[in-house]
Amino acid sequence: MATLIERFDKTISSLPEDITLVAVSKTKPASDIQTLYDHGHRDFGENKVQELTSKYEELPKDIRWHFIGHLQRNKVKYLAPFVHLIHGVDSPRLLKEINKRAGNEERVIDVLLQIHIAKEESKFGFSYDEIEELISSGKLDEYKNVEVVGLMAMATNTEDKEKIAGEFKELEGFYHQKQQDIPTLKTLSIGMSGDYEIALDYGSTMVRIGSSIFGERDYH
Ligand SMILES: *Cc1c(COP(=O)(O)O)cnc(C)c1O
Repeated sequence: MATLIERFDKTISSLPEDITLVAVSKTKPASDIQTLYDHGHRDFGENKVQELTSKYEELPKDIRWHFIGHLQRNKVKYLAPFVHLIHGVDSPRLLKEINKRAGNEERVIDVLLQIHIAKEESKFGFSYDEIEELISSGKLDEYKNVEVVGLMAMATNTEDKEKIAGEFKELEGFYHQKQQDIPTLKTLSIGMSGDYEIALDYGSTMVRIGSSIFGERDYH
């Protein structure tokens, strides 16, 4: 079986150089992160606040931590001091809370707005219309301590590549259109182990890959 570093090297060599790889280390031990850190990698993604903060405390401080899960408002304060990018902003109230907590830390926190593109599944995220509303509300300019730097989405979990491609394609069109309204948009976070090759065809600038690098997760 390939080692962690071999799987990481294989994954990163399959990506164009200007794509950011977020290595999704959720459920995996800090020692795996340290191994890839020593190999030169800095971007890691987690989806649980408690797990992220304890790994943050244990590991080198120049790791760029990406929060990729559903974030509850009452937990923003734990991430605010150090988080690099929050991918899953899915409500105006969450955005407001991040702005407040970032202000307390005298930081500007970069975030991605999560869009619900998987038509059949109930996943978190804004609809396209809700993003339009948020932009026209003027809130994004009002919040001085949060910067919307892009969009994030998850495609339907299916083997049907055409369906996935259709969802990513629509999102890419929307993303390019919104870049006219929000000049800070530069990140499109799409693509996981099963679908990142498709995402790369549709404008992905950041992929979030877990199991292809770290191996399957077991949940207890
Ligand atoms: C777990 C997770 C990933 C990585 O999934 P893999 O299929 O293991 O690559 C990516 N994005 C989000 C939001 C996740 O929760």
